[in-house]
Amino acid sequence: MNIINAIARKIDTFSLRLRLTIGIAVLAALGISSITVWTTWKMQQLLINSHKQNIENLTVRFPHDVELYSEMMPPEVGLQKAINNLTTKNIFLWVKSPEEKFLAQSRTSDNLSSARLSELMSIAEMPITPQVHQINQRYFVLCSEALRVRGKVLGKLFVVQDITRDQTMFLAMAHSLAIASFLIVVVISVVSAFYVRRSLQPLCDLSQMTAVISVVDLSKAQLSVDHAPSEVRELAQTFNMMLSRLSQSWEQERQFVSNVSHELRTPLTIVYGYLQSVLRRQDNLTEVQQEALETAASEAERTIHLLEDLLDLARADSGHLHFHVESFLLNELLIELVEMSENYSGREIKYLVNSEALEVKADYNRLKQVLLNLIDNAVKYSEPNTPISLNANQQEQEVIIQVCDQGYGIPLQHQSRIFERFYRVDESRNQATGGTGLGLSIVKTIVEGMGGKVSVRSRLGEGSIFTVILPVK
Ligand code: ADP
Repeated sequence: MNIINAIARKIDTFSLRLRLTIGIAVLAALGISSITVWTTWKMQQLLINSHKQNIENLTVRFPHDVELYSEMMPPEVGLQKAINNLTTKNIFLWVKSPEEKFLAQSRTSDNLSSARLSELMSIAEMPITPQVHQINQRYFVLCSEALRVRGKVLGKLFVVQDITRDQTMFLAMAHSLAIASFLIVVVISVVSAFYVRRSLQPLCDLSQMTAVISVVDLSKAQLSVDHAPSEVRELAQTFNMMLSRLSQSWEQERQFVSNVSHELRTPLTIVYGYLQSVLRRQDNLTEVQQEALETAASEAERTIHLLEDLLDLARADSGHLHFHVESFLLNELLIELVEMSENYSGREIKYLVNSEALEVKADYNRLKQVLLNLIDNAVKYSEPNTPISLNANQQEQEVIIQVCDQGYGIPLQHQSRIFERFYRVDESRNQATGGTGLGLSIVKTIVEGMGGKVSVRSRLGEGSIFTVILPVK
């Protein structure tokens, strides 16, 4: 039962493969069963008609025989002689007078036939044209006709032919034909299932190839299905053309973002510099003016960070984000980060590294950028009185760095998406923190660019752990 359920779950009831297979099987079943039924019916007709014809011939011949014998011997004896002449193992005849008295009848040698004959003779109504009757699981062709000899009605002639043997043979043959038809339908269904599967395989291949194309390899992606039918090859070609159009427009968009970020960053940095210098010489500023300038400076700084992130991502997309990967002692970097973050955020950050010398192979500045981003998030998305910690340890050939907080946490359904560009979980809370939604996508791009991995484990209301794994050498 479990196996059937498992198979039922595995079968896609809406798949083209299942529909085509069922369609072919139903057509085969209908076609073959109609041919079988028609053949059986036609053979039955031919068989019965030949028996009926035989009986009709007998009823035509019998009066002539009686006439012939009556010229040579008394009529009763002639009648019996004519009956004896036509009686065989399967054909029985008898004649009744108009007063329903038996004038003559077939004589049978064995008891079985005579019992059968007396049973048949007891049938009151006999058809005038030959007809097939089933009596006690035996089949007979029956017919009766008025017997006229030299224009005088002698009585009624009854002719019966036992066709049980032929009919049984016919039924056995029909039975075999039905079994053969069923087997043919099964074979056609199985063969068609394999055939349909093989025919649709190129479509599945195409779908698998398309599924693994990502933005990164959009320009190089080419679908090729060499031995597929021409329709599928055409589809692959259309896909390839669409991919190249997509790649072109993606390239243009990237170029645009890169140019705009570049063009905006320089003037904005100058504006930010001026704002900072005015704020530094704040003697003659009113409180309102100072507040306005501080807001302008902080927004300018935020926008510069956003533009820098966008530039980094655009460089990574076009393969121009270069890393100076080297081996160095991680401990020093982590201690520097803890100090920097504590000064900047005013929060205590625990340093939990038990090894004296943790070596890692990465780009020093980029790793610093990654960890600053993660610590900044831990500070932003947790209450000021909750602890934050920076852990690191080595496992075989990997260094594992973790940034842990006991803050708001991330709902499970968002965890796989927070590394996407501009994806933010709770817009109302995020507004207050002033982020851009690009931080984690930069983190992921940089870590993967250095041959590492980044992941998150989080529980709503309990906190989050961001883990960065990097190679040791
Ligand atoms: P943002 O600039 O909004 O911080 P990020 O890419 O750094 O953008 O983060 C994406 C989203 O992931 C954030 O908006 C936030 O909702 C969520 N997030 C990131 N880090 C944490 C964390 N430590 N705790 C809870 N939520 C976090």
